[in-house]
Amino acid sequence: MRVVFVSSESTPFVKTGGLGEVVGSLAKCNKEINNEINVIIPAYKSIKDRINPERTIRSKVFFESNWREFDIHQVCEGGINFFLIDCANYFDRDYIYSPPEKDVWDNPLRFGFFSLASLQTIVEFNLSPEIIHIHDWHTSLLPLYKNLYYPSLKTSATVLTIHNIAYQGVFDSSFLPLLNLPWDIYKPYDGIEFYGRLNFLKAGIIFSDAVTTVSPAHSEEIKSDSGFGLEGVIRQKKYFFGILNGIDTDYWNPEKDQHLIKNYRFRNYKAGKRKNKEEIKRIFGIDTPIIRPLVVFIGRLTYQKGLDLVVPVIEELIIEGFDFIFLGSGEEHYQDKLMAIIRKYPRNVSARIEYDERIAHLAYAGADIFLMPSIYEPCGLAQMIAMRYGAVPVVRRTGGLADTVRDFFEHHHSGNGFSFRSSTSQELMLSLLKAMSIYYQNFFNRSNRWDIIVSNCMSADYSWNRSIREYMKVYSIAKMLKK
Ligand code: ADP
Repeated sequence: MRVVFVSSESTPFVKTGGLGEVVGSLAKCNKEINNEINVIIPAYKSIKDRINPERTIRSKVFFESNWREFDIHQVCEGGINFFLIDCANYFDRDYIYSPPEKDVWDNPLRFGFFSLASLQTIVEFNLSPEIIHIHDWHTSLLPLYKNLYYPSLKTSATVLTIHNIAYQGVFDSSFLPLLNLPWDIYKPYDGIEFYGRLNFLKAGIIFSDAVTTVSPAHSEEIKSDSGFGLEGVIRQKKYFFGILNGIDTDYWNPEKDQHLIKNYRFRNYKAGKRKNKEEIKRIFGIDTPIIRPLVVFIGRLTYQKGLDLVVPVIEELIIEGFDFIFLGSGEEHYQDKLMAIIRKYPRNVSARIEYDERIAHLAYAGADIFLMPSIYEPCGLAQMIAMRYGAVPVVRRTGGLADTVRDFFEHHHSGNGFSFRSSTSQELMLSLLKAMSIYYQNFFNRSNRWDIIVSNCMSADYSWNRSIREYMKVYSIAKMLKK
């Protein structure tokens, strides 16, 4: 099948979290099953310096009441053609979405332009896709632009994947004319109005042929009460599916990972993880006996990721015997709270407020326990990566975490982690303590239950092989709708 991805992020060029990683690895998987796959992303400043285009063409679209010229750079990476939309006015900036703690007023224009320019790219390069697969709010105006301005793409179907419904791209309606959108679609029913404002994601849901989100559990949640105001719109969507994300198991592979101090597989996981644990503790300045269970958190420091559940009990958990490492950046008040605890327990808890791919690899490998107490989690990649590296997940049972982490049941030797349901620090603490008791029994050779959990984690299949088949079904349905 001929598929074009349009996304604000994709590995290997740009990744700020799960979106970029999923788009890049799903594109790779499309290629592996012989789909003809092309990916369109913006040429952010951070990318432009690194690329060596095979071909660049100049094009233009009418946007913001003007003809806007832009370059399209074609770059082949890993056998996949990437088309990078280069318009200095929108993308020549030191950030992808916004600088820390600030909003950028023209984001609707930046990503509205990107969606329109992507359609122009499809035409210029004669890609004639059967499927245009768009991702999140940034590209959600594309189906509308396609219907309004690109009749030649009538037979191309559009599929929208919602990676995080909390981010919808909601802006003042005064942007409408600048975005080349007619006022008659600015209405609550079957239109893009949303409580007196303009909602990009709503446009994507209504005007795409099919919509998916990134786990089956989350697809149910956002239909019922966790759709951030779009529950009703989702419920009305006939072709709506929950497909679990996968991870790139070549890239996330403890047997070959170049970032690790020692590579390992399950057979030698204790020795392997120990070396990496020593190194990550050294980097973070955690100066305690190696036996103490090391809890790692990697992710955005935001409400979504459940930091409000962790922070109140860190001290108690340190006293119980845990050490903590945090890697992430985000809201300042969480950083401040973590720093206050770190000042009190500098040997037991440490944080790096940054995005660092190499450190993340080492931290997954060095972790005994991976903590992910998300308040909501559309899918979550981090817990799957952690499991592949033999770090046992302790998670809140929601969305994709509920779909991927099964509680350990001693009698059946089944399960790959520990989970709790209610959003309380107490429940989080109980789950961690349960994990610790099994961890210590193993350490002193009194039981092999921890080994069993680690084995269940490391042997599971988190690759895209499963989910790509489901995407193919969705593509087929969307394609049929265009016949
Ligand atoms: P999100 O909600 O941010 O998309 P996911 O769990 O789906 O969360 O994906 C997060 C991805 O970003 C994982 O690959 C994780 O390793 C990576 N990541 C998150 N924060 C950092 C960080 N500070 N440094 C390095 N990698 C990070």
